[in-house]
Amino acid sequence: MSSVAVIGAGVGGLATAIRAAVAGREVTVFEGAPEVGGKLRQLHLEGYRFDLGPSLFTWPELLTDTLAQAGRHAAPFAYTRLDRSCHYFWPDGTRLTAWSDGEQLSEEIASTFGIDPGPAMEHLARSAEGFEATRGLFLEQSLHEPSSWAPGNALRHLGKAWRGRRALPLTRRLDDWNTRAGHEKLRQLFNRYATYNGSDPYRAPAMLHVIPHLEFGMGTFAPEGGMHTIVEALHRTALNLGVTIHTSTPVERILTERGRVAGVRAAGEDHAADVVVSGADVTPTYRQLLPGHRAPERILSAESSTSGVIFYWGVRHPAPDLHLHNILWAEDYRAEFDALFQKGTIAEDPTVYINIGSRTSPEDAPAAAGNWFVMVNAPAGWETHGLDELRSRVMAKVQRMTGIDVSAHLDCEHVLTPGDIATRTGSHRGALYGPASNKPTSAFLRHRNRDRRIRGLYFVGGSVHPGGGIPLCLLSARITSELMERHDPI
Ligand SMILES: Cc1cc2nc3c(=O)[nH]c(=O)nc-3n(C[C@H](O)[C@H](O)[C@H](O)COP(=O)(O)OP(=O)(O)OC[C@H]3O[C@@H](n4cnc5c(N)ncnc54)[C@H](O)[C@@H]3O)c2cc1C
Repeated sequence: MSSVAVIGAGVGGLATAIRAAVAGREVTVFEGAPEVGGKLRQLHLEGYRFDLGPSLFTWPELLTDTLAQAGRHAAPFAYTRLDRSCHYFWPDGTRLTAWSDGEQLSEEIASTFGIDPGPAMEHLARSAEGFEATRGLFLEQSLHEPSSWAPGNALRHLGKAWRGRRALPLTRRLDDWNTRAGHEKLRQLFNRYATYNGSDPYRAPAMLHVIPHLEFGMGTFAPEGGMHTIVEALHRTALNLGVTIHTSTPVERILTERGRVAGVRAAGEDHAADVVVSGADVTPTYRQLLPGHRAPERILSAESSTSGVIFYWGVRHPAPDLHLHNILWAEDYRAEFDALFQKGTIAEDPTVYINIGSRTSPEDAPAAAGNWFVMVNAPAGWETHGLDELRSRVMAKVQRMTGIDVSAHLDCEHVLTPGDIATRTGSHRGALYGPASNKPTSAFLRHRNRDRRIRGLYFVGGSVHPGGGIPLCLLSARITSELMERHDPI
C-alpha cells in the first residue's frame, strides 16, 4: 500500500487526506497546532463562539463532493442558502441589500440609486459567462502539467473561452471594467471582489470580474452550526476513513533520497512515506522544510495578498440593522488600496466588514447579543503598532454608520493581527490568500501542485494553484489528488 504524509490539517490538507484514503492509501496527517482547521479554527469566549477565519461560504458542492467521496464514511454536513449576500452601508447614508434573487436585486438597485438596473444586471450576466468560460481552464485543472495543454484538452477549454469571449476582458483592469455597472457605488461594490483573494482592484486584471458570480449567481450559504462545522465534517470523515492525524506535531523537514521524497521528520522523529503533500504555505515549505533544495524564487518573491486585523467582539445589543454579512465602506476606496499596497499601512478610514455568525447560528451568542467578527484589511506583514487607536477608529465608524456604541455593550474581546495569523497558521507574513492577483499573469505565478524537481512531492491549499479561499482550496485538493493518481499510482 502506498503511504502519504500530509503536512497541515487545514481545509486543503484534510480534503487531500480524504481523497488519498478513498483511493486506498495509508494517510498520516501531521499538524503543528494543537487543533485541526488551520485558518478555520474557532474560539470560545465568555458564552460566545467565534469562527476565527472564514465567514463567507460559497460553492458548497465542492465540500459535499469531497465528503461524498467517502461514501458511508462521510460525516454529516448541513447548510442553508441565504436570501441575501451582504448589506452595504455608505458614509453618506445610502444602504443597499444584495439580494440573492435577481428580480429583488434589480428592484433594490433601481430604488436605491434611482437608475436603470439593466447595466448592473448585464454586468452580472457577464460575470457568469466569464466564470463558465474559464473555470475548466483556470480553476479545475493544473495549469502546469503538459497534459493540460495537450491538443484535445486545451482546444476544448480554449473553445469554451472563445465562445464566452465577450465576457473575457483580457487587457483591462478590474476597476475600469466595473465602470460598466452603471453607478459609482456599484463600481465600488464590484471592486470589492478583488479583496476575495486579497488583491487591489485598481491594479488587478479585469478577469477577477468572474468572482461576483460565485455569490450572485451560485449563491451564498451558511453551514448549520457555523463555519467550523466545515472542518469538523472533513476531520471526522478523514478519521472514519482511517486517516491518522497527529496534532501538536510540526514537520521540521521533508526527507528526500535521490530526487524523491522519503518521508517527513516531525517532532524529532522520521516517518517514511512514498508521497508527501504540503498543505502548509509554500514559502515556509521551501524555506524551512527543504533546506538545500532549489526554491522557486520568482514565485516565493511574488507580492503577498492582504492580511487583516480582526476584532472578535461579544456585543450585548440586538443591532437590528446588521445582518450576517455587512460592509461599512471607506469614504475613499482608492486611498484604502494605496495605503495597503503602496504605503504598507492601514487606511485612515478603512472599509469595515462585520460578520455576525449568530444571525444564522443563534446558539453562538447569548439572547439579544451577537458574536461580531469585525475585520479591516491590513498589509501582509503589518507591524502591529497603534492597535488601540485603530480599535477606537473602528468603533467610532461603527457608531457613526450604525448608531451602535460598541464600547458600551462589549461583553468580551479578542484580537488577531497579521503576526498572529502568521504564527498560528504558518501563513507567510500572515497573508490570507497566498500571493496577490494584481498582475495579468498572476494565475500562472501561483505555485504548481506537483513539484517539478522532487518526485512524490505535492502542494495543496490557499498559497498554491488555483488560489485561496475555501472553494479553491477544495479544488486544489481535487487537482492534487488527480495528479497523485497519475504520477504516483498505488
Ligand atoms: C481572517 C480570515 C478570513 C477569511 N475569510 C474567508 C472567507 O470568508 N471565505 C473563504 O472562503 N476564505 C476565507 N479566508 C481564507 C481561507 O481561510 C483560507 O484560504 C483557507 O482556510 C486556507 O486553507 P489551507 O488548507 O490552505 O491552509 P491553512 O488553513 O492555513 O492550514 C495550514 C495548516 O498547516 C499547518 N502547518 C503549517 N506548517 C506546518 C508544519 N511545518 N508542520 C505541521 N503543520 C503545519 C498550520 O498549523 C495549519 O493548520 C479567510 C482567512 C482568514 C485568516
